[in-house]
Amino acid sequence: MKPSRAILFSAAALFLVAATRVQHTAELAAAPPPQSHDFVLVIHGGAGSYKNQSPEHSDAARTAITHAAETGAAILRNGGRSIDAVEAALRIMEDSGAFDAGRGAYYSRAGVAELDAAIMDGKTLQAGSVASVRHIANPISLARMVMERTKHVMLVGAGAEEFAKSQGVPLVSPFYFYNEREWKHYQDRVAAEEKKSSSLVNPSLEEDDRVHGTTGAVALDQEGNLAAGTTTGGTAFKMTGRVGDSPIIGAGTYANNESCAVSGTGAGEFYMRNVVAADICERVRYLHVPLEQAANDVVMKELVEQHGEGGVIAVDPQGHVATPFNTEGMIHAIVRADGVIRIETFKP
Ligand code: ASP
Repeated sequence: MKPSRAILFSAAALFLVAATRVQHTAELAAAPPPQSHDFVLVIHGGAGSYKNQSPEHSDAARTAITHAAETGAAILRNGGRSIDAVEAALRIMEDSGAFDAGRGAYYSRAGVAELDAAIMDGKTLQAGSVASVRHIANPISLARMVMERTKHVMLVGAGAEEFAKSQGVPLVSPFYFYNEREWKHYQDRVAAEEKKSSSLVNPSLEEDDRVHGTTGAVALDQEGNLAAGTTTGGTAFKMTGRVGDSPIIGAGTYANNESCAVSGTGAGEFYMRNVVAADICERVRYLHVPLEQAANDVVMKELVEQHGEGGVIAVDPQGHVATPFNTEGMIHAIVRADGVIRIETFKP
């Protein structure tokens, strides 16, 4: 008896499916096993002089950075993405009021908090940033929305806040950013400026003798993807509309899976002129210089020669970490897969 056409058809189809499966399995066997990297998360809370920081403020900063490190590490431990760990950690830093970001932002000359933030995904090179926003509780999350929900990289001021509203992000009152500690610093500075009778049109360029309290994070996840983020109120007593390096991709924030992820803190103008974050990563990428050397050369030589004070945190795809700073200190936390959170402020 002859087999019907339908039976022949089914047999041929089954053979094809089986053959495809065999081929697929063979390919898998030949391919290198998927890499599972140990993760690492590094967070900074600003570089500078700590001599005027009160013990209460130091305690609050340590508590907040520990909480941020625990939260980010939990995401990475569960196989989460580096970009999620960076955002989650920085939201905690913004909400803590202990750093120059979110609730703890330094006031501008106009006595308001004007916030900048950026985030970058080293896998896709997608980036988002916001600058000069005054009504956003968590600028780091708005920066991420710019990255993921617009075709742009950067939105500023009223445009950024319009976009926030359109995305259902509530605009907070300037009083949300009221912070007794920073208000006192602001008033002292106003009094000092009045004494010097400097004009608002030609503001003094003097920096406060304080920590640059910006906060940033870099991470490597188990998939081997890097991310970086930075969020800040900028420099104390800055001119209205002044934007620093933190939200400028390549200056204060950069991530590229081919080289490294960097977040900077310090006198932002120097970081912008020297495109610090990108310069470190491009040295790694094109000159094949180890991360630590690249970061040291930029922060401890080039910036120092120009009197550009500050520091960076950086991580490469192999999990090497560099944390150079040319100031008295830079509070930073490092956490790896062993779960131990190492917090350092000063050089050993
Ligand atoms: N780099 C920041 C800026 O210039 C300040 C800081 O690091 O605290 O806006």
